[in-house]
Amino acid sequence: MNFYDLVVVGGGPAGSSTAFHASKRGLKVLILEKKKVPRFKLCAGCISGRISPYLPAGWEKLVLNRISSGVLGYAGTESFEVPAEEPIAYIIDRVEFDTFLLEKAQQEGAHLLQECEFFYLEKEGARYRISTSKGVFYADHLVGSDGFYSKVATLLGYKKKKFFKALEFFTEGALFHKVLIDIGIVKRGYAWIFPKGNNLSVGIACNGDYELTKTLKDYAEKRGIKNITKIYGWYIPYAESNEDVFYGKERILLTGDAANLTDPLLGEGIYYAFWSGKVAVDALVLSPSHPTGNYKTLLKDLVSELVYAGKIARLGYRFQKVAYRMAKKGALRTYYGLLKGNMSYKELFLKGWLDFLKEFAYNYVWR
Ligand SMILES: Cc1cc2nc3c(=O)[nH]c(=O)nc-3n(C[C@H](O)[C@H](O)[C@H](O)COP(=O)(O)OP(=O)(O)OC[C@H]3O[C@@H](n4cnc5c(N)ncnc54)[C@H](O)[C@@H]3O)c2cc1C
Repeated sequence: MNFYDLVVVGGGPAGSSTAFHASKRGLKVLILEKKKVPRFKLCAGCISGRISPYLPAGWEKLVLNRISSGVLGYAGTESFEVPAEEPIAYIIDRVEFDTFLLEKAQQEGAHLLQECEFFYLEKEGARYRISTSKGVFYADHLVGSDGFYSKVATLLGYKKKKFFKALEFFTEGALFHKVLIDIGIVKRGYAWIFPKGNNLSVGIACNGDYELTKTLKDYAEKRGIKNITKIYGWYIPYAESNEDVFYGKERILLTGDAANLTDPLLGEGIYYAFWSGKVAVDALVLSPSHPTGNYKTLLKDLVSELVYAGKIARLGYRFQKVAYRMAKKGALRTYYGLLKGNMSYKELFLKGWLDFLKEFAYNYVWR
């Protein structure tokens, strides 16, 4: 029988989390994933420590690197390092991580149909009729977790406006327990060198008009990376206001990148993808006939985080030298509190704005 309580489109972290939590709550769930699993997803694979309490048991065995030190650079030339007392983030491989999350959803009872592309949905009586490359399915609810180019979001009339363009390549080299982030390279965005087990992931994310491939190559050379391998590109959508979030309509909700639930400061998306999947299910269970209102309400704190991250991003990227100096004087260490889940972006912003003004005055007024 092709009838489900919930069809989830997309088998990334947002879709798996939605399916995992919905199955746990007793719903009959179908995940549609257009690719063959395991599937590649371009990503630096850095998850902040604050996600760890929410991940299904067993995720620790997927950790390639425990990050206990951050290096902040400016323009690929200067930098400083701030060690942490305990891990603040973890590097995982997205192929393994996403497969693990999908398996966990299936263990809870979700049915996965891979190499099955979602095409279209329409109302048929009280249900949704869902057309795919592998036939027609029916469901009471649908969650679109189909990433940046979400077909579900497009069908609901949404159009992406705010996003980073991101380039990344993988090469040999070792950083083990450190991550390096460089600002001062593009107007809004940053470049990174992260460990990937015993290798490196090198990339850049920005939302301006740049010759990004050249900018990334120049950056890598400045940072002593000799072997620049094949460069891949993808997009990171972000939200920095309530209006930027695509919640969904009627009994159709959107999660993860499909909803633009990604951090506008650094483009961290896995945490928000996973979290929005859980919240979407809470909303569906709480008000099955009108879940969107409750979804908005339950996501309020998370969206407020993105709004404050956006305020920090706009100021920090507008005055990058000021941000760099502030970070050196202590803001980077304070940021570790956020990565570990002990602090919110709102607290970080309220704590930092006075220091920002002082540093700003020092750089631009008194000098
Ligand atoms: C270069 C780069 C580096 C990044 N680094 C980090 C990082 O270090 N840390 C971090 O937290 N975030 C990072 N991100 C962001 C992160 O990758 C995303 O936010 C995250 O993958 C969002 O998860 P998702 O499940 O919403 O979407 P996705 O992971 O994109 O999954 C969507 C799934 O839907 C499937 N799909 C799409 N269309 C259809 C369809 N029509 N029918 C069926 N299935 C479909 C796709 O095949 C895919 O499997 C990075 C992004 C990029 C581009």
